[in-house]
Amino acid sequence: MMNQHDTCKTLTVVQSEYCSVTRCPDCGMYHLHVGPLSLRLREEVFTSICAALSSIHRGHYGHNEHLNMSVRSH
Ligand SMILES: [Zn+2]
Repeated sequence: MMNQHDTCKTLTVVQSEYCSVTRCPDCGMYHLHVGPLSLRLREEVFTSICAALSSIHRGHYGHNEHLNMSVRSH
C-alpha cells in the first residue's frame, strides 16, 4: 500500500475562521482541523461528511421537532 507514510503533505483545500481542510497529494487523505482537533479522513468519508453537513443548509434537519427526537443519550 502506498497510502501509508510518516508525514503527509498538506495542501490547503479550504481555510476558514474556525476550521480548515488540507489534503495530502501523495495518499489523497483529507485532514479536517477544528481548533485543537484534527481528523484524518479518506476521501469517501470526507465527501460523505460534507454532504451530511451541507444538507443542514438545505433545511433537511433544521428547525423542527424531528431534530430533537433524533437526539439520543449515550
Ligand atoms: Zn499522505
